[in-house]
Amino acid sequence: MATSEELHKRRVEAVARGVGSTIPAYVDRAGGGTITDVDGREWIDFAAGIAVTNVGNSAPRVVEAVRAQVERFTHTCFMVAPYESYVAVCEQLNALTPGGFGKRSALFNSGAEAVENAVKIARHATGRPAVVVFDHAYHGRTNLTMALTAKNMPYKHRFGPFAGEVYRVPMSYPLRDGGLDGATAAARSIEMIEKQVGAENVAALLIEPIQGEGGFVVPAQGFLPALREWATAAGVVFVADEIQTGFCRTGDWFACEHEGVEPDLITLAKGIAGGLPLAAVTGRADLMDAVHVGGLGGTYGGNPIACAAALASMETMRELDLAAAARRIGAVMGERLRTIAAGDPRVAEVRGRGAMLAMEIVVPGTLTPDPAATAAISAACHAAGLLTLTCGTYGNVLRFLPPLVISDDELGRGLDILAAAFG
Ligand SMILES: *Cc1c(COP(=O)(O)O)cnc(C)c1O
Repeated sequence: MATSEELHKRRVEAVARGVGSTIPAYVDRAGGGTITDVDGREWIDFAAGIAVTNVGNSAPRVVEAVRAQVERFTHTCFMVAPYESYVAVCEQLNALTPGGFGKRSALFNSGAEAVENAVKIARHATGRPAVVVFDHAYHGRTNLTMALTAKNMPYKHRFGPFAGEVYRVPMSYPLRDGGLDGATAAARSIEMIEKQVGAENVAALLIEPIQGEGGFVVPAQGFLPALREWATAAGVVFVADEIQTGFCRTGDWFACEHEGVEPDLITLAKGIAGGLPLAAVTGRADLMDAVHVGGLGGTYGGNPIACAAALASMETMRELDLAAAARRIGAVMGERLRTIAAGDPRVAEVRGRGAMLAMEIVVPGTLTPDPAATAAISAACHAAGLLTLTCGTYGNVLRFLPPLVISDDELGRGLDILAAAFG
């Protein structure tokens, strides 16, 4: 077998430079809480393919369901000749997502595609043009979702012009907004919407209940409920982007449940199908069904293999109670992270929920972001056998997203490596 170094040489000559990788190691196999490269080096996985393999890599039920489906048929296109698994995934999403009202779902390939479709549906249903998004938001890399995303480098730089009718308002970011309470932070955002956009022009308010790429920013308690209440009164479609937070990651099936928020539409992807590409928009039946027949779809959306994987993933989450597993991981990891933080003035804050935790790194004694220190700590982890990711508008957040099936031993060893990387 080729070595990672040989494969990397080939990659540089064959793969576009714009596609980056966290580690220059080429995967041979992955499972449970580890990834092994072609040279036999092992990393403890605190990335889960960016919050995708919540049920683990090659989870037994997913493998079996995919194998059985491949043997039956690989693709017919749901828009041409439909099949049961697509319907079953939609039924489950309608039942699992928050909100006791009637729901419908539609399936797509990627998170960005789900977000684009949520905006299409909200605009169509309301007849209004504007979309409100937040500072530090991340919603994808397509033209519309680049416009919705806050951060320039690397996502938007020189890729414009962007889609119009997108308006950005302040996020609740307790560490960096002087600890504004949720209601006050929401009032600040709402006033900006009303004065600068006009509520009656707004189709959708789109928000990540805990921000992902933007830095694992957890809004102050009350922020999301206040926005939800305002959206209802203003006839604005409240869209929760749960692409990173969904499917047991934060200790609930969906992060909105933590404060009892019921979105009108939810966008889903990442953790939905154990690593196969699938995404969804789930929401109020009247909004979803407002769109004319043929107005939503795509060649591969709800591919039968991805749907089989999604059904097996959701069954795994239920049977292993992975929401409880995420809470357990959060308790163990949170305690270790706070111990590290107590002894290291570079850590401004430990935050997150369940198995979605982060540390924000600053110049000691200030709130000045320190992306160089963040990168150095991350590199030390990679060298010592722990796969971690960074994020944040300022590139100064270490984020931890282990698979929810990681063993206690792997979790403990990963945290030991992290502690040593701070040493
Ligand atoms: C990853 C992500 C997206 C985009 O999903 P893709 O599948 O990469 O297109 C959108 N929103 C959030 C919150 C994400 O984390």
